[in-house]
Amino acid sequence: MFWNKGRIFFKLRFKAAFWFLVLFAASSVLLFFLVSHYVANDMFRITDWLLESTVRDFTASYLTGKNTARYGQQVPFSEVPQLDVAAFQSHLTGGQLLAAYRSTLGDQEFYTLFGSRGKELYEFRLGSDGRAYSRLLHPEQNLPFLRKEFSDKLQSFGSDNIYFRFRAADGTGFESNELRRGNGGGASAGLSTITENGRKFRVMRQPLFDGSVIEAGRSLQEIDERLTAYTRIFLLFLAGVLLFGTAAGYLIAWKLTAGIERVSDAARRIAGGDLSLRVKLRHEADEVDQLVNAFNAMSENNEALVTELRTVTDDIAHDLRTPLTRMRGLAEVTAAGKPDIESFREMCGAVAEECDSMMQLINEMLEITRTESSINRLERSEFSLTELIRQAGTLFSELAEDRKIRLETRLPADHEIRIRADKVKIQRLVANLLDNALKFTPAGGTVTLSLSERDGAAAVIAVRDSGCGIAPEDAEKIFKRFYRCDASRTLPGNGLGLAMVQAIANAHRARIELDSTPGKGSCFSVIFPPESGEIAP
Ligand code: ADP
Repeated sequence: MFWNKGRIFFKLRFKAAFWFLVLFAASSVLLFFLVSHYVANDMFRITDWLLESTVRDFTASYLTGKNTARYGQQVPFSEVPQLDVAAFQSHLTGGQLLAAYRSTLGDQEFYTLFGSRGKELYEFRLGSDGRAYSRLLHPEQNLPFLRKEFSDKLQSFGSDNIYFRFRAADGTGFESNELRRGNGGGASAGLSTITENGRKFRVMRQPLFDGSVIEAGRSLQEIDERLTAYTRIFLLFLAGVLLFGTAAGYLIAWKLTAGIERVSDAARRIAGGDLSLRVKLRHEADEVDQLVNAFNAMSENNEALVTELRTVTDDIAHDLRTPLTRMRGLAEVTAAGKPDIESFREMCGAVAEECDSMMQLINEMLEITRTESSINRLERSEFSLTELIRQAGTLFSELAEDRKIRLETRLPADHEIRIRADKVKIQRLVANLLDNALKFTPAGGTVTLSLSERDGAAAVIAVRDSGCGIAPEDAEKIFKRFYRCDASRTLPGNGLGLAMVQAIANAHRARIELDSTPGKGSCFSVIFPPESGEIAP
């Protein structure tokens, strides 16, 4: 149906695909931000480190000239002994330390200090004899060397992105290349980011003691380009991931819901009347398999119930029709006959009898149904089963005698068996079995009612007879309502006795065993589960 198309958004498949999409997109974007933040940070850190160390090298060259190596290794001021620092300070009063170098001779360490006083630059050393030596330097003499170092470094870094610049206090100076055309303006001391002619630069600017400035800068264009390329790759990746996520979500949900759809489709068709329909098991997923199995079991039950209901209704109709027809016949015959009070009275008696048997039939049906559906909860109580069996034997002995049948009752000799059960229902069960045994056993036969114990059971009631027996093909059917074997149709009965026995046994979780040989006799055993024997101390 057309309107059904709009329902696509409510389908599990669509929802699963949608949430997969959202999940994939969210995690990809998060990943992108994390990675790009890390990458950008790393690039800036490397750039800053490069600029700082380059400017530090240039500054050292400006102070010390091309023979930096002869002073040894540059060290931080904190590593210079106090003695040397104090000597520097007293020798060059008001002087400012600019750089310190350490060299070793044998196992002795020497420190060469560079410091300024006003605009003058000095080299200072404390001799091993305790005397101080100082020398006035002329750093402007080092400029050609600095210029050469600019071009050496430029060659190793490449001139596309990096530049170096020197400016003396009087504004004269030189630069490594023309990458940044400005005249040294814009950048503040230390590290800063500036934009010039639309290009971004990271700049390290180092003002020196004499008013000159050394600057190193790197264009951020390369980093920007890399980040842009990275973003582009990510967007492509994201598109792929989203496409894949949606497809995967849809496919997975489709696979998972296929079973559910089959079940709901089957349910619709069963509701339409096809009770025999079952859903095929395809082993898609445990949960779906369980659903299919449960659904099939339910359908099977429903079908059995409906079929049984139909047969029961047919049977009841049939069983009620016979007495009704009889009553009608009686009434007609009486009405057509002589108006004689005696025949009317006879007819009334017969009608009352028929009514009684119909009432009995209806009551029994009701009781079986209630026992089966547990509407009538069992009224369990603890009682002596031995006593109950003994009483049943006594009760039926008269009937047995009338029919010339020997009725024997066998009970455990040494002890009493007690159980927890619905006493009235168990009486009913025993009575129905005994009634059948006496009914289907010819005169001269024997019926034995016995009570015993066995492993895994609280008690076993057995009713054995030497009657007509039951054919194997009837063994299961006789427990169904209204079923009567062909041979017994002439005998009184309505086919409900064993159905009632079965319902009572089921309600007590007891099992019925039938052992019968046609022509020789039958034995019905009711086996009570161990929990029936669990008596409160
Ligand atoms: P009913 O006894 O009223 O016919 P039941 O439900 O008690 O109904 O029994 C169903 C059928 O099972 C009987 O009609 C009979 O054919 C068969 N049956 C039951 N008990 C015995 C028995 N002890 N010996 C032979 N057949 C039996």
